[in-house]
Amino acid sequence: MPEQFWAPWRLEYIERADEQDGCVFCNALAGEDEETLVVHRGERAFVLLNRFPYTSGHLMVAPVRHVGDFGDLEDDEALELHRLTQSALGALAQVYAPQGYNVGWNLGRVAGAGVLDHIHLHVVPRWAGDTNFMPVLADVRVMPEALAETRRRVAAAWPS
Ligand SMILES: [Zn+2]
Repeated sequence: MPEQFWAPWRLEYIERADEQDGCVFCNALAGEDEETLVVHRGERAFVLLNRFPYTSGHLMVAPVRHVGDFGDLEDDEALELHRLTQSALGALAQVYAPQGYNVGWNLGRVAGAGVLDHIHLHVVPRWAGDTNFMPVLADVRVMPEALAETRRRVAAAWPS
C-alpha cells in the first residue's frame, strides 16, 4: 500500500484522538448512537463512523471489549468483527456505491494507530482518483450534520 494513501488520514486521526478523554471506543459505546456515530451494535463487536474520515463513509469496526492486543481477541470476537465488516461493505455499497475498499488494522503508533489500547478495523470506501483530492480534504473539518446524515443512511442500509 503506497505511503501517500495512509499518511494523510492517519496523521489527522492521531492528532484528534489525542485530544479525547478516555477511550473513544468505550465512550462511543456508552453514549447515544446519534451523538457518538455508532452505526450498528452487535453482541461482541460494533461499528461506528470515523469522525475524521478519509473518504465519505469511513467506518471502524471494534470489539465491545476494551482490548489493545490483536492476539488477545477471542474467537467469537474475531468472527463477529469480520461478519460486521461484511455487513458494513454491504451497507456502504448501497449508500455510496464505492468502486473499492481498503479494509485493515493499524496496529501500533508507527503503523498509524491513533488509539492504541482499543483495537479497531478501518473500512475505507475508495473511488478511482480519490487520492488526488483527499489529501486536500483531510484538512477540511467535516460538518457534524454531514456525519449525522451519513450515520443515518448507513444505519438504514444495514443488512438485516
Ligand atoms: Zn475502549
